[in-house]
Amino acid sequence: MSFIYQRSSALFQEAKKYIPGGVNSPVRAFNAVGGDPVFVERAKGAYLQTEDGHQIIDYIASWGPMILGHAFEPVVEAVIKATEKGTSYGMPTAIETEIAKLAVSMAPNVDQIRMVNSGTEACMSAVRLARGYTGRDKIIKFAGCYHGHSDSFLIQAGSGAVTFGSPNSPGVTQGTAKDTLLADYNNLEQVADIFKQNKGEIACVIIEPIAGNMGCVLPKEGFLEGIRSLCDEHEALFIFDEVMTGFRLARGGAQEITGVKADIVTYGKVIGGGLPVGAFAAKQEIMNHLAPLGPVYQAGTLSGNPLAMSAGLAMLTYLNNNPSVYDNLAAKTEYLHKGIDTVLSEKGMDYKINRIGSMMSVHFTDQEVVDFASAATGNNEWFKKYFHGLLDHGIYLPPSAFESYFLNDALSYEDLDKTIEASREVVAGW
Ligand SMILES: *Cc1c(COP(=O)(O)O)cnc(C)c1O
Repeated sequence: MSFIYQRSSALFQEAKKYIPGGVNSPVRAFNAVGGDPVFVERAKGAYLQTEDGHQIIDYIASWGPMILGHAFEPVVEAVIKATEKGTSYGMPTAIETEIAKLAVSMAPNVDQIRMVNSGTEACMSAVRLARGYTGRDKIIKFAGCYHGHSDSFLIQAGSGAVTFGSPNSPGVTQGTAKDTLLADYNNLEQVADIFKQNKGEIACVIIEPIAGNMGCVLPKEGFLEGIRSLCDEHEALFIFDEVMTGFRLARGGAQEITGVKADIVTYGKVIGGGLPVGAFAAKQEIMNHLAPLGPVYQAGTLSGNPLAMSAGLAMLTYLNNNPSVYDNLAAKTEYLHKGIDTVLSEKGMDYKINRIGSMMSVHFTDQEVVDFASAATGNNEWFKKYFHGLLDHGIYLPPSAFESYFLNDALSYEDLDKTIEASREVVAGW
């Protein structure tokens, strides 16, 4: 069986003339796997309809938001209804309070939430708030964790003796880089050392409490708890970036799953139901520092947009009322994990599968994947062959070895069986 994506390739050629690299976000361009990206015409449930006329099974769910499948009826209806009433006012609306009230009732340990338009904006604003609240400049982040593309986060480990980072994109200044300190995921000792070397200077630690941007990587026992203690000891804030995990792993996200309390939590993806939404939330005492109440400035013309809020509210309402979705998704993900596990182990290949809830990733390596360095030991040639092999069978995996699969609840066990069977056929010839 082989799906051909000829029209997608033609559309990509045209797109490249007018859009840098033909895409509006780099990972879509297939740079990590080679070949031309697939263009989508529409989507419903677990399936993408490509411009080539193929129906393919989707494992990225728009990188997370479409947890209930594409064009989920209650969300579509809510957005249509809202659209008829006007698409933006730049004035307060009742629905903003409604979704805020619901979101803080689902998320542990927060009193208030501020809506923005992307996960990037949420993380950028959360760090500003932490700096404004503590009166300190430096932040600690972890290699392999993604917090959007604002300057403070586009930092890689510094060389040699320096403890601060260096820009990993032109356009990020050395001045910005020196305030971001880098640690390895799951290395608590290193975090403790950084705190010791920068006494009284750390505003916050920001982390993906369960990482999804170096594949799926879980925190080791005691890691998050240890950072929590360090933050308390040094009076720094602990920011959970739950843009990926929020409302996906549980109603209360990674805070609920891990039992570790964050001081500020950022959201995105699921909270917008597929529309451009981000958010950050905290206790009242911290949020009081935010404009217009306090001096930390943050704003947005389209923040709390009525279309976006109606989509998010429909999504969160469904998840809040149907928590069994999380168990169903976890069961489906476990089923897929076991199926692929069987296929790859029969083949005698080096691989590691990481999984939690509806997130999982397959790494072609013999090492445990616990941080960015171990994720990077994966054999990318195998990954590319596996990705394109499945795409030829009409199955869409994330087009990078450093991304997690995001399962959606519209996936049937038949879809999962098809995926496992396709995996078997793909690796058969290796
Ligand atoms: C996707 C993501 C972001 C960035 O969100 P955008 O909406 O793409 O700006 C930030 N943090 C994490 C953990 C993410 O997965």
